[in-house]
Amino acid sequence: MPRLRRIGGLLLPNWLAITLGRDIFAWRELTPAELAHELEHVRQWGRYTVLFPLLYLGASVAALVTRRGWYRGNRFEVQARAAAEPAPIARGISEGRARRG
Ligand SMILES: [Zn+2]
Repeated sequence: MPRLRRIGGLLLPNWLAITLGRDIFAWRELTPAELAHELEHVRQWGRYTVLFPLLYLGASVAALVTRRGWYRGNRFEVQARAAAEPAPIARGISEGRARRG
């Protein structure tokens, strides 16, 4: 009898999503911040094309060697986390308001 399986449950169970080229494979629906993070990876793929997986791996090794954690310290993940934060313009506006207020 056929069974429907959630692939995420078997493959990389702790993962939320993975971006391969222009495709984002998500284990569940993504929040806007999570989507912004993955869209930064789409931009990285666009910038480095087929070299991106190698560069990502190299960045993971560099992060490991410097004890920053292969994922947390990976420069591409750092970039993606920054992309998922509120836009600098929005921060600038609220800071400007705070200074004037
Ligand atoms: Zn990421």
